[in-house]
Amino acid sequence: MGKVGVPELFGSMVFDDRVMRARLSAKVYDSLRRIIDENGQLDEGVAEAVAKEMRDWAVENGATHFTHWFQPLTGVTAEKHDSFISPSPDGGVIMEFSGKELIKGEPDASSFPSGGLRATFEARGYTAWDPTSYAFIKDHTLCIPTAFCSYSGEALDKKTPLLRSMQALDRQAKRILKLFGKEVKYVRTSVGPEQEYFLIDAEMYQKRPDLVYTGRTLFGAMPPKGQELDDHYFGVIKPRVNAFMEDLNSELWKLGILAKTEHNEVAPAQHELAPIYSTTNVATDNNQLTMEIMQKVARKHGLVCLLHEKPFAGVNGSGKHNNWSMATDKGSNLLSPGDTPHENAQFLLFLCAVIQAVDDYQDLLRLAVATAGNDHRLGANEAPPAIISVFLGDELSAILEAIKNDTPYQGREKEFIKLGVDSLPKFSRDTTDRNRTSPFAFTGNKFEFRSLGSSNSIACCNIMLNAAVAESLKQYADRLEGAADFESALHELIKETITKHQRILFNGNGYGDEWIEEATKVRGLSNLKTTPDAMPHLLDEKNKKMLMAHKVFTESELESRCEIMLENYCKTVTIEAHTMVDMVRKDYLPAIEDYLYKLAKTTSLMKSVSGNVKCNYEISTMERLSELTDYILERVKDLEKSLADLKDIDSVVRSSEFIRDDMIPKMEHLRKHVDEAEMLASEECWPVPSYGKLLFSVY
Ligand code: ADP
Ligand code: MG
Repeated sequence: MGKVGVPELFGSMVFDDRVMRARLSAKVYDSLRRIIDENGQLDEGVAEAVAKEMRDWAVENGATHFTHWFQPLTGVTAEKHDSFISPSPDGGVIMEFSGKELIKGEPDASSFPSGGLRATFEARGYTAWDPTSYAFIKDHTLCIPTAFCSYSGEALDKKTPLLRSMQALDRQAKRILKLFGKEVKYVRTSVGPEQEYFLIDAEMYQKRPDLVYTGRTLFGAMPPKGQELDDHYFGVIKPRVNAFMEDLNSELWKLGILAKTEHNEVAPAQHELAPIYSTTNVATDNNQLTMEIMQKVARKHGLVCLLHEKPFAGVNGSGKHNNWSMATDKGSNLLSPGDTPHENAQFLLFLCAVIQAVDDYQDLLRLAVATAGNDHRLGANEAPPAIISVFLGDELSAILEAIKNDTPYQGREKEFIKLGVDSLPKFSRDTTDRNRTSPFAFTGNKFEFRSLGSSNSIACCNIMLNAAVAESLKQYADRLEGAADFESALHELIKETITKHQRILFNGNGYGDEWIEEATKVRGLSNLKTTPDAMPHLLDEKNKKMLMAHKVFTESELESRCEIMLENYCKTVTIEAHTMVDMVRKDYLPAIEDYLYKLAKTTSLMKSVSGNVKCNYEISTMERLSELTDYILERVKDLEKSLADLKDIDSVVRSSEFIRDDMIPKMEHLRKHVDEAEMLASEECWPVPSYGKLLFSVY
């Protein structure tokens, strides 16, 4: 760690509450705090005062530039740097930064995806300061977290709808709390995202065009050893990886990111980092930053950090777990079982709201994590299935069952359950049985949504989750606010909800085929296997209605997002297909050809020396490899045809379906033959590093 201790290092590059309190006048600080805590309005005077202090602080800490930092729909962050300099009459410069520059920016937005929302001739979008996420310094640049909108106010980013969804949930949750006699300033959702990634050697990476162009290997035979021994999970961290992690931690700490836990994951070369949870929009910004810094720090260590969901076939891919909860400004977690019957009734109501939300909007949660990369994981027996269900654990399930049936709870205290009256038992949190195969698991005082891909922005699933829970809460508040007898209305409501949404609750093995059968045939849950299956549901009437009612999206925003996500899917797979064609024609076929030449030459040479040699090895290898080159040629032509046919399809929905049904099977077919050839040819002749080298060469 060097000379500076962690507490001094932590947040040293962040214009956080400590800095604001120390530098802003009491009056400015108070109004800014109000804006942050209660969504107050920002006035120009405050903006001007904050901008001045921000600039002084940034310049003192080595910044020369500033940028509005935002999250366009590309899924990565964007920034355009402006320096602080402004000419002074004496021929020099002064460092300037105005309130206006803090609040609003106007990046040329024509190259960001808008899905038709913003005609390109009207290329300008604008960015607006999000004071709820602290500004920070990165690479000598003051980064101001912002939302990104079109001139007509339509969201062009992931942050705007996320903030809207948090507001929707805040509105409805406060109505419910009021019914329980609680006035709170706000209810916010918190998230702790666990992030998985691979680290491989940079030199090897550079030799693999598939990794360079697509982030994953498109070919590669399995090495003799994969993850069978489970010896990597939580294993001793290798020195080179350890040096990377130390460096990464201190970079993240400087940015005020609460990097907390790190360990090896299941696959060789796979690791995980988990921060301490924070408010959802801050956690989202921090997770984007974390992914960026991981890649940057890896490079410094001669490594490459792969964030793709499935960089290697045959070993686990990488996901992200979205640990989610709701809490009041007083820090009371609404998903924490309470000590009194009254508190437990409140807990059960919020629990019901989540259960109902997940059932009613399974499709939205599924499509929020749908990308070409994540399609390789969901349902592949290493990540949760594409079917969304909720795991509650045995104790909580038994309690809900008892409420549903008006039967005594057979738990530890064997008491009859009635809500809101003194007979409700205390129950402990269920932390013992943790079901790794469930996509949406209750883990004591939070829900863990496990279907995210490692490169997904966590904004998408939290938008859907917040909005869907807001909708359940709204329905509950509408009903309970008018109830003559609150206690019995509450009991009825909870009972009814449990009965109605029973089908989404599942504690069993989500990897089993029996579950897929039961979930789809008996329970009627949706099984949206791929992005083209899932994404169009964004525009289902029920989904549009809910998202628009809570003002999370407008209709045109939804249409544009659906289009962008499908377009992204099509582009991703198309690039992969082109890369395959390229590698086969330029690398693999010529390499096999060289090897065949060597075998043929050896055979004829050997035969010319002795009439007794059979050359079985040479000849059989040659014959099979030659056969394979013919197959490979046919398959690559198939794929080229598929790429050509795709050009003639004009709708993005049909393109995505064509890719799913025609192109991807052809890619898999082609890969199979190339991988077989790899097993037969010599390592020396093979044009790219093998899986074995990629996965086992970092020490
Ligand atoms: P795991 O066993 O899956 O690693 P942990 O208990 O270590 O689970 O927590 C994983 C993540 O959940 C961490 O990022 C942690 O900060 C976060 N977390 C813990 N409590 C909450 C909460 N109340 N709300 C949201 N996230 C939480
Ligand atoms: Mg987890």
